[in-house]
Amino acid sequence: MNVLLLVYDSCRYDVLCAARTPVLDSYCRVERAHSPANFTYPAHQAFFVGILPHVPEDLPYYNRFRKQLLGLAAVGEGQVAKDALLKVSSPWNLVQGLKEAGYRTVGAGAANWFRQDSLTFGFERFLFTGTDAQRQISFLIENLQGAEKFFGFINFGETHAPYSFAGKAEPCRDRVLARLMRWPPVPSGPVGAATCGFRCQVAAAEFLDSHLPALFAALPGDTVVILTADHGECFGEDGYWGHGVHHPLVYEVPLAIFRLDRTPLST
Ligand SMILES: [Zn+2]
Repeated sequence: MNVLLLVYDSCRYDVLCAARTPVLDSYCRVERAHSPANFTYPAHQAFFVGILPHVPEDLPYYNRFRKQLLGLAAVGEGQVAKDALLKVSSPWNLVQGLKEAGYRTVGAGAANWFRQDSLTFGFERFLFTGTDAQRQISFLIENLQGAEKFFGFINFGETHAPYSFAGKAEPCRDRVLARLMRWPPVPSGPVGAATCGFRCQVAAAEFLDSHLPALFAALPGDTVVILTADHGECFGEDGYWGHGVHHPLVYEVPLAIFRLDRTPLST
């Protein structure tokens, strides 16, 4: 079994639900999940020890206390290791464990955090790209060719403020950055779906969906895809903007898990 972890950086659950995503919709429904962190670095560190966003409902592979898709034998919580589908061992993290178990580990990251070895050390091949989905997809396709088994990873930047992507005509009018917030937060003006930021993130998610077929067509059918976000975003709710702050919407993320050959994951 191969694993492909796709992270739409900052993408809210309700944004992905509002976006037209025919490719993703053709595989499975998207669940409402909770991220373990509110910004990029700790969220990915958690993912890389096998702790994915958590769905409260009792769904296998989605609920971290029921059964995790990933997981380590030598690192992390006992529950994760006991019911993990992939049991690999490493004193460092899941990516390192998979590499030692013979997986080809290839990743591409948009966020600046992926300039740091502390996030990327487990990957045999890793490319920091900035926001450039097409380059990331090409890199994965090229470097996963011929792999007997693999763990592929992309952190996409298009859904991160300022929501820019190839061919986008208008810049986002909202500056969705927590560092620009007034403290204490003061609610004012439109929020959520009524903001330009929300609409721009929707458009970015639709852009990414349109690029999934090229990636999926190049990978074997026994690839399990995990599509999620590292954290959400606030668009003015309760006076909050952006992420890296404690607000429920910053922890709410989409989570979809499916096989490329559409075989249901067994329970
Ligand atoms: Zn992020």
